[in-house]
Formats: sequence, structure tokens, C-alpha cells
Amino acid sequence: MADTGAAVRLSGLRKSYGATDALAGIDLDVRHGEFFSLLGPSGSGKTTTLRLIAGFEEPTGGSVELAGQDVTGLAPYERDVHTVFQDYALFPHMTVEQNVGYALKVRGTSRAERAGRVRDALALVRLEGHGRRRPAQLSGGQRQRVALARALIDRPAVLLLDEPLAALDLRLRGRMQAELKELQREVGITFVFVTHDQSEALSMSDRVAVFHAGRIEQVGTPAEVYERPATAFVADFVGASNLLSGEPARRVTGGPGPYSIRPERITLSAPAEDTGSGGAAHGAAGRTGASEHRASGTVTDVVYLGHAIRVLVDLDVGGRLTVLQHVGEPARDAAPGARVMLRWPAAHAVPLPADRIPGSHEDPGAHHGSPDPGAPATVPAPGRGPR
Ligand code: ADP
Ligand code: MG
Repeated sequence: MADTGAAVRLSGLRKSYGATDALAGIDLDVRHGEFFSLLGPSGSGKTTTLRLIAGFEEPTGGSVELAGQDVTGLAPYERDVHTVFQDYALFPHMTVEQNVGYALKVRGTSRAERAGRVRDALALVRLEGHGRRRPAQLSGGQRQRVALARALIDRPAVLLLDEPLAALDLRLRGRMQAELKELQREVGITFVFVTHDQSEALSMSDRVAVFHAGRIEQVGTPAEVYERPATAFVADFVGASNLLSGEPARRVTGGPGPYSIRPERITLSAPAEDTGSGGAAHGAAGRTGASEHRASGTVTDVVYLGHAIRVLVDLDVGGRLTVLQHVGEPARDAAPGARVMLRWPAAHAVPLPADRIPGSHEDPGAHHGSPDPGAPATVPAPGRGPR
């Protein structure tokens, strides 16, 4: 069988439940050895995709290939993949060793071989010495490691992970993120990792697919999806973003937009330092070559975030932009009511297709409505950190 070079290839993959299109047709290649994340809001089709790869569900249309082999009609146990579920799905009455070695036992692997491989798997997830405990005697993080050891004991070609860290508290999650990434490098297995947390996806992945309403909006490296979002939805979901469109966009940039502008790309200065009330300035004196956009406005709110300060500004040309100033940057004192000038490099106003305006972050289903005609010209998006 021809290896297409992809560890996982999904072609025109669809899944309907009655009238609901859980997946409206996706195409995706995951490369061998990649840490690949499926990122999207709740209900966008991430779990459905994993279940179709694992073979727990049959697609309504399209195909699944693993290492060049069409496995669409094969049962889960005939596919060289394992799944780690969010709730770990450990057997409570079995010890850690028995949980980890269960699949080998079912297959009739000898006791001696089993013991050796269980020991190796537990060492891999740093659980040596915990083999005789039961799941109830472990912390959440340790239980997650047992689930990982159980999934890795067979060294599957692909490991599917469905929000495996979502049940852990924030600190532990941060630690497990780093460990999981290290483990993946160590074993060299292809990981397909599901998360709704954009910071988790950006920090862990080689590449990310952004899901929305049963479709993939963009596939790229973390830097690509963050710096060059392909759609308004991606700009808004992956990090905080400003959307500048309509008349305000035209008056500030000369183009109709919509544009995505990251809050940390905007700098604040006093209005007196500039001439004019806004507009595009191309290579103006004192600036290094690149053209930049400028807009004057009035501060409406200042929020202290610890590492940064978030300033909301109502533009004179209409609309509102969010500016993120890192603490320690030479920053202009901003207080509500202050007059300010905003500037950003023109290259950081990323043009977006005009047909889709971000809506709610809960995807109600695959049938997304048309843009709201009453939507404001600019939409400030609050930061979306881990829950
Ligand atoms: P995610 O994992 O991104 O939160 P899912 O893949 O679980 O999303 O769900 C995608 C959509 O399919 C949702 O609208 C969900 O309600 C629907 N869905 C998922 N599984 C079923 C099912 N067994 N029956 C009916 N609808 C389902
Ligand atoms: Mg899910």
C-alpha cells in the first residue's frame, strides 16, 4: 500500500446525526511524527473527527487513511491508533499495572513480557513505584499519566487525545502540557490533540487546525494562524483581536477591510505628537520605512492585567479598538477620557474575507447564520485565557 506521506489523511469527511451536520466535510493531512492540534469551540466537530479516525463512528461520507491505507471500513482494533479520553476511562477495580497491561493480557501476551512492558510504560510517564495502587489512590495528574501509559504501551502509530488536560487545575495543566510535549518528542508518535484552549494549542503544537461549525477554517503553524489568520473567526478565536471594517476601516487604512489587528501591535501616543486626525502615513519622518496606520480617539476604559494593561479606545472615525501595552514598555499614561493617537504597522492590519464575521464562541451547530447586519463596525474581543 502506498504511503502518502501522511500519518492521517481525511478526505471529504462528513458526519451527520439526523439533521445535524457534526462534520460538514473536512480535508486534512497530519504528517508523521507531528504534534497536531484540533482547536475550536465546543460543538465545532473536534471529538467527532477523533471518533471517525479511531473508528468508533462511521462517516456519512468521505474517507480516513492511516499511513496511506484506507481504513474507513475497519473496526477500531484493526487501526494502529489509540485514544486517551478526557475522563481517562480507567478500570477502578484494577491496579495501575493491570490497567496499563490490560490490552496485552487480552491479547495473550506472556506474563513476563507484560511485566517488562508495563514497567517501561510506567517509567515513560514517570510513575515508577505506583503500579500497585488503584486509580482512586492517585491524583488527577497521575491518573492522566496512567491513561497515557496504557495508550502508549503498544506504541501505536497515532495517538488521539481528546482534551486530556481539561480536568486538571491550571498549574498542573501547565506542567502536564510541557511533559506531554516532551513525551511526544521522546516516543516520536504522531499526536492528534483536541483542545478548545487556544493558548494550549499554540504552545504545544507543530501545526493547528482551527474548527468552526463542522468545518476547518485554517490549518497552519501556531505563528501562521496567530499572525496571518485566514478568516475573521480565526482572528477572533485564536487570541484577542480587533476587527476593523466598514467606514472606519476605509478612513483609517484607505481599504474597505475587514482587517484583523492584534491589540499588542498597536501603540499609544499623545495626540500632540502627531498631525492630522488619523489616516495612513507612509514612511513618515522619524519612522523606519514601513507604512503605518494611525487613528485618534478617546480612552474609554483601562484594565490592569498584571503582565499588561488593556486600553479601550473609541476612534473618532467610529468603532472601538483594544490596545495591549506590556508592563515595562514605555507607555503613555492612559486614563478614561484621555485623548490618544493609535498607530500600528500597516503590515499588521491583516485583511480578512468580508463574508464572515465572528459570532458566538459556542457553535450551535454546523449551520451558521449570515453575518449580523446590525453588528458594530469594530468588535473588541476580550482576551481568552485558559479557563
Ligand atoms: P466538539 O468536540 O468540538 O465539542 P463534537 O464533535 O462533540 O464537538 O460535536 C459536534 C456536533 O455534533 C455538535 O453539534 C454535537 O451536538 C453533535 N453531536 C455529536 N455527537 C452526537 C450524537 N451522538 N448525536 C447527535 N449529535 C451529536
Ligand atoms: Mg469534544
